[in-house]
Amino acid sequence: ANQADLHPEHPGMKAARRWLAGGAKKLLIDGNWVEAQSGRTIEVLNPATEEELARIAEGDKADVDAAVAAARRAFDAPEWKGISPHARTRVLLAIADAVERHKDELSALETLDNGMPTWFSGAAVNMCIDAIRYYAGWPSKILGTTNPTDASNFIYTLREPVGVCGQINPWNVPLLLVALKIAPPLACGNTVVLKPSELASLTSLRIAELAQETGLLPPGVLNVVTGYGQTVGAAISEHPGIDKVSFTGSTAVGRSILLASAGNFKRVTLELGGKSPNIIFPDADMDKAIAAAVNGFTRNSGQICSTGSRLFVHESIHDEVAQEISRIAGGLKVGSPFDTDTKLGPVISATQRQRIMGYVDSGNQDGASLMTGGCTLGERGYYVAPTVFSGVTNRMKIAREEIFGPIVAIIPFKDEEDAVFQGNDSTYGLAAGIWTRDIGRAHKVARAIRAGRVWINTFGETDPVMPFGGFKQSGIGREFGIDSIMAYTETKSVQVRF
Ligand code: NAD
Repeated sequence: ANQADLHPEHPGMKAARRWLAGGAKKLLIDGNWVEAQSGRTIEVLNPATEEELARIAEGDKADVDAAVAAARRAFDAPEWKGISPHARTRVLLAIADAVERHKDELSALETLDNGMPTWFSGAAVNMCIDAIRYYAGWPSKILGTTNPTDASNFIYTLREPVGVCGQINPWNVPLLLVALKIAPPLACGNTVVLKPSELASLTSLRIAELAQETGLLPPGVLNVVTGYGQTVGAAISEHPGIDKVSFTGSTAVGRSILLASAGNFKRVTLELGGKSPNIIFPDADMDKAIAAAVNGFTRNSGQICSTGSRLFVHESIHDEVAQEISRIAGGLKVGSPFDTDTKLGPVISATQRQRIMGYVDSGNQDGASLMTGGCTLGERGYYVAPTVFSGVTNRMKIAREEIFGPIVAIIPFKDEEDAVFQGNDSTYGLAAGIWTRDIGRAHKVARAIRAGRVWINTFGETDPVMPFGGFKQSGIGREFGIDSIMAYTETKSVQVRF
């Protein structure tokens, strides 16, 4: 790497480089770090420099088979099944503490691997720690019920772990998603086979290593198989030895996972794509609404499932709001994700950059007005300028398809009813934002919008207490909050006749 790419000023860089220098990253199976059975590896690129950052094992079906067998043995073994809820709490707290001790290193690693600015990877580590600690509190609170019956019966329910969980993640916010895929199933007493994205696996591998180093996880409780979706991902979703699949990723792949899971009727949760409406009414606190709208489509270069990619602005203020948003977005610093004043780092890959630019062409062709951006930046690294289209109609492709890049489509609306109608006129239903000072309108619109999460006078915040997931083609089921606990347990009802 060039000297300039080493970023010794970042507090976690030394440790991250030391870990990277340890050689190709292996699979975690049955408590051991092993190479893929094929011996193959995948090259991982740093999206800011386009240079090789690391190599990870290219797992395959045979490695998934080994991981599932280990996870099954671990699920049935008394070392995991037999321990008290308090012991599971201690395991999760120890993992969270280890992540916290390596916070800076993980932030540096994520920024190198994914390209997100360090302010965002730093926030993501904190979210990861909070989520693990939140689920650490659950094991002793997973309650069954005692159910009303006549005098000669006793009926009660138990909530029991589902079994072996196959967990498939995307590349966009690995630090948060790894917590979501590991902590709730372990809190409930399950075992895990995790497949991170081939484009950004490093922090998941490092966290798995830290988890193993606590010495509290029996072998096989947590397994990690890196590799491609068509091989490792498909093997997980079809595997007869896996009881539940939790997938976060695109809607197209979610559909194939649902079909593949049907073989043994896996329990399935899918967290998929979105095209989230963010609605600004004329009575909103305009400065806050505009700042949040800009943040809502530029954060992580728009590579967030709940990105506010459709910005509905009342027709009376559409032009001035569009001007202001373009002015602010056009002034954001796009650059090295290690510069502390950078707001947008590179997008994840050359392919993703090309997809995004395809949507810029589409917006131009459909007659939307390009207010700022619409181009790539720099000679090296996958940089895309924040891009604002105004005067968009909800029928245009840029308003219908998930772009997963820093592009916003500003769409005028006439009145409340029109905002709700257009907001709901989408195959997706993941999230929505509402900006107004009218409390009645805020709650009315929140009820009318068909989305799994609604923010009123804020946008894009995440808290592990808040269930997350989609209506319509944005997914099936919910994760976070108590919903993850429900998703990783089965209800058993027991009747005793006296
Ligand atoms: P993706 O669907 O391409 O890949 C996600 C994961 O699935 C990767 O690990 C990939 O290797 C794997 N995969 C690919 N093909 C597979 C197959 N046939 N069978 C099994 N697994 C397969 O998504 P991505 O490009 O990594 O991530 C971006 C997408 O993720 C966006 O659509 C975004 O909206 C979505 N996302 C959703 C949420 C949410 O919570 N709803 C959160 C983050 C990202």
